[in-house]
Amino acid sequence: MAEERWQTLVPPFFASLPKCELHVHLEGTLEPEAVRNLAERNGFEPPDIFDGDGNYKPFFNMEGFRDIHRKAITCVQTPEDIADIYLGYLERARCQGIMHAEISFNPQIYRRRNGERIPLTTILEGIQLGRELVTEMEAETNAQTRRVSVRMIMCFLRDRPIAEADTILTELLDSPFKSFVAGVGLEGNDKNHPPIKFKDVFARAKEAGLKTTMHCDINLDNSIKHIRQAVHDVGVDRIDHGLTCCPTSNFFVVPDFKRKDIMSLLNQGVLITINSDNPGFMGGYLTGNFYKMFAAGLSKEELIQAAMNSISMSWVSDQQKQQMSERLHLYIREYALIEGRDEDELRVELSTGQEEEGKVSPAT
Ligand SMILES: [Zn+2]
Repeated sequence: MAEERWQTLVPPFFASLPKCELHVHLEGTLEPEAVRNLAERNGFEPPDIFDGDGNYKPFFNMEGFRDIHRKAITCVQTPEDIADIYLGYLERARCQGIMHAEISFNPQIYRRRNGERIPLTTILEGIQLGRELVTEMEAETNAQTRRVSVRMIMCFLRDRPIAEADTILTELLDSPFKSFVAGVGLEGNDKNHPPIKFKDVFARAKEAGLKTTMHCDINLDNSIKHIRQAVHDVGVDRIDHGLTCCPTSNFFVVPDFKRKDIMSLLNQGVLITINSDNPGFMGGYLTGNFYKMFAAGLSKEELIQAAMNSISMSWVSDQQKQQMSERLHLYIREYALIEGRDEDELRVELSTGQEEEGKVSPAT
């Protein structure tokens, strides 16, 4: 795998910090080279979305992103294609201290050349194939110790008809592969498509034992109203962007990438997490986003708290949360030793995230 830019720029503390990623889109991890490879494999002309260096053409807002993203995804057609994307993300996750990832996928954006929706079965088969390839790779490379556990979140597109979401949910519940899907989500342009529109579909998903989340960003039209609907009327378990923050992605919405909001909520004890969203297009995988917040003023201790929050907010068993917390705790102790500090000096209370007296200023 080509060396990522962050690997040369980001201090080792963030690169290896044990953490979970709760907001990343499988389709958003498509790198330019992967798109060209898929186009070639499927016999298509690559879409006109690359600059002279082979990177995606620059975009400066969400509309620009959505246009390039939509064209890139036209090259994804088969289960093997989906498996390759899955494998690509997992390879990167493994190098970034990610212990557990909850990866969203959006069945409604995959289309055949004639415009027909690619069946959910094809997409689920691709994810299953990706899971098998990852297991094989871990066995071959003896990498089980850095295993990344994964659960999937099936996202509906909010500007598509409710009946389509309903059909896809039925297809999921009838699928033999539903066991790796932990929950459902909602994404896409929220203008004129409030959360309440999907109340019944989400109720059915909850009845079937699935967790629920919705993209409900702040500083959009009707943000507060939509967040209220998601929490009180639909009863979601999480809110994407609200709790699963994505600094690099935010930059395409507001110039300060909501830095102050993230810091303020984190310091008020809200279970804010840091995530990457669409890193193949926007740059900045999870470690890069942690470092972005560090460079913007968050202390190491605050970012450790964000990592702890990512464990608390994940949709795994209490036992797995406990194991991940222990790994994070061990890392903090070891890091203190590497820095030549007394362990107590850098102690962070895992239960509260509060430092003890004798505060240590963040090392550079
Ligand atoms: Zn997102």
